[in-house]
Order: sequence, then structure tokens, then C-alpha cells
Amino acid sequence: MQKWRCSICGYTYDPNKGDPESGINPGVSFEDLPDHWGCPDCGASKELFERSSDDAVDD
Ligand SMILES: [Zn+2]
Repeated sequence: MQKWRCSICGYTYDPNKGDPESGINPGVSFEDLPDHWGCPDCGASKELFERSSDDAVDD
């Protein structure tokens, strides 16, 4: 699944892991994250994320 990287702090959202601290279960794609979701490290909103270059390598 596509990973997305925060352009502010470099945090990578990995759909295979989700974001348990924000109540996001593993397997939730970036596109399916709620609009209020933000970077767990710096609080950046979704539009500040960019597709990670190491996409689609592991399933
Ligand atoms: Zn961030």
C-alpha cells in the first residue's frame, strides 16, 4: 500500500501499521484517513503529505 510522508517533519504514514495513537487501525489507506487526521509528530494536515518514493514495494 502507498506510504505517505509528511513534508514538514518527515514522518511516514504506513497503512500497514496505521496510527494506533490516533485510533487508526492497521490497513487504513491514507485516502481513507479522516479529514481531521494530522501528522502525529507535528500536526500537519493531510494536504501537507506527499507520496513516499518507496511505494508499492511491500504488497
Ligand atoms: Zn509531520
